[in-house]
Amino acid sequence: MGKALLVDLGKGSTESLDLPQEWCKDFLGGEGLAVRMFYEYMDPDREPFDPDTPIIFATGPLNGTRAPACGRLVVVFRSPATGTLGITNVGGHFAPALKKAGWDVLMVKGKAAKSVWLSINDDQVTIEDASEIWGKKVSLTEEYVHEKMGKGAQVVSIGPAGENLVRFSCIMTDKHRSAGRGGGGAMMGSKNLKAIGIMGTQSVSLADPDALKLASAKAMDEIKAEPFTSGLLSPYGTPGFYNSISGTGTLPTKNWQRTSYPESHDVLGHEAYHNTLEVKSYACAQCPISCGRKSTIKEGPYVGESGGGPEYETLGAFGSKCLINDVSAVAKIGYDCNEMGLDTISAGQIVATAMEWYERGILDQEQSDGIELTWGNVEATLEIVRRMAYREGIGDLLAEGSKRAAEKLGGDAVDYTFEVKGLEMASCGVRASKGEAVVHAVSPRGADHLRPYASVIDAFGYLEEELGIKEKQDPLLDGNKGWVKPVQELSMATNLIGACLFASICLAVKGSTWAGMYSAATGQKCSLEDLLLASERVINMERMINFSFGFDRKDDKLPKRLLKEPAPDGPGEGQVVDLDTALDSYYEAMGWDIATGIPKPEKLQELGLSWMQL
Ligand code: SF4
Repeated sequence: MGKALLVDLGKGSTESLDLPQEWCKDFLGGEGLAVRMFYEYMDPDREPFDPDTPIIFATGPLNGTRAPACGRLVVVFRSPATGTLGITNVGGHFAPALKKAGWDVLMVKGKAAKSVWLSINDDQVTIEDASEIWGKKVSLTEEYVHEKMGKGAQVVSIGPAGENLVRFSCIMTDKHRSAGRGGGGAMMGSKNLKAIGIMGTQSVSLADPDALKLASAKAMDEIKAEPFTSGLLSPYGTPGFYNSISGTGTLPTKNWQRTSYPESHDVLGHEAYHNTLEVKSYACAQCPISCGRKSTIKEGPYVGESGGGPEYETLGAFGSKCLINDVSAVAKIGYDCNEMGLDTISAGQIVATAMEWYERGILDQEQSDGIELTWGNVEATLEIVRRMAYREGIGDLLAEGSKRAAEKLGGDAVDYTFEVKGLEMASCGVRASKGEAVVHAVSPRGADHLRPYASVIDAFGYLEEELGIKEKQDPLLDGNKGWVKPVQELSMATNLIGACLFASICLAVKGSTWAGMYSAATGQKCSLEDLLLASERVINMERMINFSFGFDRKDDKLPKRLLKEPAPDGPGEGQVVDLDTALDSYYEAMGWDIATGIPKPEKLQELGLSWMQL
């Protein structure tokens, strides 16, 4: 554990490095190890696109083992969308391959003089010319790397959006799985790095294979016993969330003017999805849940087109937010985003904002290149998405993200953006889940619904004895947000060990079971408390890094509509967010200074992070 591959594209050099064992012990792996390493190599004065700003790909200690749903890759950088830490995470099969190639972490810095791709065959690492694939879409890029390295190679790559430094471009793998958030694609593009291919042929050494077998069987039982994973996520994939999220009043609709969209259940919900599209399920490495979807359009103007998803977030981003009540059209838009390497969450939110700007006359037809950005306009959306990826006309403005675009448009344009720190919000409402309100505001990477997915506790009413949540939490209560802390730590734990949050999002796999699998794989004895403590350490480390970039309480904000406009419908009808009350209670539980939102010196000391005090 702790083997890192360093690639400097500016110098054309590669180097193997043993990371300090204390890092592995204190931060466990995955996001923890990557962020610790990022801290070592970053400079707060360096901008995201500075060639010396690193991008780090990290595996977790359970990647490449039999542990179920443990195939996640973490990517860490400084986000060109937000200026905060960029942290994004993807399934597929790349992380186990990186681990089996003998590397826990891959760090890339420097900028190549011309476009390149990286070939990693265990310890044989070469920097290859990418001129034949620069400009190509994601599928062709992956196929090219497979031709060069063999079909067994795993690939991450960027599409034209990443090459064109679109601030919400993503890193793709398995053609349609995306490390979507925060502009990782642009980070690779800024280094002239088109793709990375990995062939890993070694086996992952385990401290106690029998104990891992037992702990993994327990995790499998927990996945089977939880109706969310076995009865919803497996058979219907993430589209299975659509109607129930709408029912809780956390489905942003018409650019957050509404909070639920019952009229769309019959056209965008999972039954319509599976009846309208030809659908096959897809699994990431070692995953019994198989929530992924590959689909083909069966009828209409896009008949015969196929691709990954659309996932729930794409249905929300382009369906409910933009009022495109046609699952085939949303599928087509999602396929295009994947091929061009755009994050569908940000892209859909930006289109929804642009539609409201257009309706209100903030963006006129001349500024929109003559495109009629009316609600539900499929052809306009397809064209805007394409223009964003290639930075053409209006697309060049929108490729900067909604925050920067609103600043350029001026006036009250900002009032219709839905972003935090520059990252667009996902399809996860906050007026009927005040837990989500605080999570979105404080997340280290800008708007984020998954650190943790707090709706599961307050809007959906789950309890978790192990985490001390023994009573139902009121989703509409602004204060008393201390319960977010242990759920956030459990969520972080999955990112440290390489597990998929979906196995834990509804508390299927228990924290103690994850700790057992970690102990068995590494030989480091780890209890639930140890796991949560390591997670808390990483959460505080990230907070301190963002503080060094200039972020503190003043930046823990939410869009105006969510603070001022009462929800017009759904279970949160009449609600706005009292964010100050929510933040005060959360900071107190975290041991952070109420005025600044920064960890207090005694908290840093307790976590062994005093060396981070500024
Ligand atoms: S639950 Fe879905 S996203 Fe998670 S590892 Fe399994 S297939 Fe991949």
